[in-house]
Order: sequence, then structure tokens, then C-alpha cells
Amino acid sequence: MRQLGIWSLAFGVFPLSAQPFHLPTANHALFEKGGEERFFVGTVGKPWTTGMFGCVRNEGWQMHEGLDIRSLQRDKHGEPTDPVMATADGTVAYINTRPSLSNYGNYIVLRHRIEGLEIYSLYAHPHEISDGLKIGQPVKAGQTIGIMGRTANTHEGISKDRAHVHFELNLFVNDRFASWYKKAFPDQRNDHGSWNGQNLVGLDPRLILITQQREGAKFSLINFIRHEAELCRVLARKTDFPWLNRYSALIRPNAKAEKEGIAGYEIALNFNGVAYEMIPRASSEIKRKDKFQLLSVNAAEYHKNPARRLVTQKGSHWELASRGMNLLELLTY
Ligand SMILES: [Zn+2]
Repeated sequence: MRQLGIWSLAFGVFPLSAQPFHLPTANHALFEKGGEERFFVGTVGKPWTTGMFGCVRNEGWQMHEGLDIRSLQRDKHGEPTDPVMATADGTVAYINTRPSLSNYGNYIVLRHRIEGLEIYSLYAHPHEISDGLKIGQPVKAGQTIGIMGRTANTHEGISKDRAHVHFELNLFVNDRFASWYKKAFPDQRNDHGSWNGQNLVGLDPRLILITQQREGAKFSLINFIRHEAELCRVLARKTDFPWLNRYSALIRPNAKAEKEGIAGYEIALNFNGVAYEMIPRASSEIKRKDKFQLLSVNAAEYHKNPARRLVTQKGSHWELASRGMNLLELLTY
């Protein structure tokens, strides 16, 4: 408890801009030593760790791209009533009010601009979305945007005791997602346009919240993303795609390519497919003609976080797996 006191003091001392993200409900047990069990909701019959972000389900082979945050308050029927609040200042990007069209049930996506980076927060399963909340509307950090609930289109549903908000912090892959998806998956429905889960790649909100808490005024989101653990490096023979503009802060300059002309980009991916570093490459630096060339794989990181299956090992060598190819096709489309 002593530590908590120091932390709340720190909140008053440091400017808000250096700690851009707030927890989306009144449940702050994440910041308490040993509080995880009161903060996370696990899947049915599994420990709280399955409510964290990452390769936390099915022995590491299934990804959970957000935090499942436990309800603190209930009505007399045991239904959750916790207000769900915007994690940061931003605008409403998307609202899904047709719960039968998503395993997220009802969900809200907010757009934020932090240190020049576009980042999107997502809040899934609310029972209710605040009256009058409209796409394009500005919201303030801490503003109530809905009431926690259990909406989902999954067969098993969400039981009362597992009531939670599923909270994500994402980067946005490509504005042309809908047209790419139609081409890549002609038989599949896309009910949510660009707001399809495949077009949002998640960062770990727990790590971001804990890091900004620890670093106070020194916290930088760009710095945080630049230090993602490397899964692999790929060379893409593409020179113009939206990610380069949207996340230009993640480009590492290369004088040779600037002098000779850019023929492609070397892209570093983390285990979840976040392109956290892009280096322009000159044609003289590119050895092969392939559209995408796998340059290196960090095997230890792959074994630690395998669920996205972006790369695959064939004997002693590594290849881009079909999911890795898909991700790169979409990224550079
Ligand atoms: Zn979840």
C-alpha cells in the first residue's frame, strides 16, 4: 500500500502527456503487488494468466490480443455495471452495435495521436454504449464511453462470473484493408471494413501501462515500440505503403539508400507482426528478386511466442509461413 501512495503522488507531479494511457475501468489492481488475480479474468477453468495479452492460451499456441479486465461492480442480478472509460484523449473511430457480428460483441474503437503515432484503443463486450457516442466525436481520457457487459457472438458466451472488458491498444495496418481482404479472401465476409481485427495489430497494454507508471515523465511510446523483441527481419521490395507514413517515427535512416535511391525496406517484426523498425535499402544492398525475403529469425523469440505462426522452421532453415506472407502482403498493399 505504501508503494501505491508513492505512485498516486507521482501522478500529480508528472505532466499527464508523459503518461498518456489510463486504465479503462476503476479496476487498478494491475498496479498492486499480487493484484493480478483481481485484475485479470482467465478463460473458463484456466488461471488469470489466460486473460493477459500474448500467447497465453492453448499451451502458447493461441494468441489473446488484449487484456480481459475483471468487473468490480454488479447490479442485483449479478450483471456488471462498471463504467468503461477512454484510455486517452482521442476521437471515436468505430462503433459496432451489432453484437451478433463479432466475437467482440458490441465494441468501440478510439483513435489517439500520441507522440505523432496513431494508436487505436478497443473496448469489447460492453452491454451498453454511451448515449450519443458518434464516429468522429472527440473524447477525453477517463470519459465514460459505455457500461461493461457480456456481449459476444461466441457459442459459449461469457458467464456472469467472467464479466470483463476486453481492452486492446493497436497499431493500424492499412487504409486499403477492405479492398485487400476482398482480393485475398474472396469467399469471406468482412462486416467491419477497416475495423477488422486483422487490420489492427496489438501491443501489450499491460507492459505499456506498467512501463509508463515506472518511467513517469520519461515514458515515450515511440521508445517503447522501438524496443519490441525481434522475431524476424524481412526485406520487402516495396517503397510506398501507408505504414511508412503513419509510423514514420519508426524508420531508421540509411544514408546509402538515400543517396542511391530506395529500392525496398528492411522490416523488423515482433512476434505479433508489429513492424517496429523499417530501414530503407538501396538496390545495391538487395541480393535477391523475391518480393519478400526472410533475412533472419530469432529462434528463441519464436519458441517463446509462437501463436501467430509468422515463420516456420523447415529442417535447419526458416521460411515465412503463409500467415507471415499474408501479414506482409497487407502491410505493403
Ligand atoms: Zn479478451
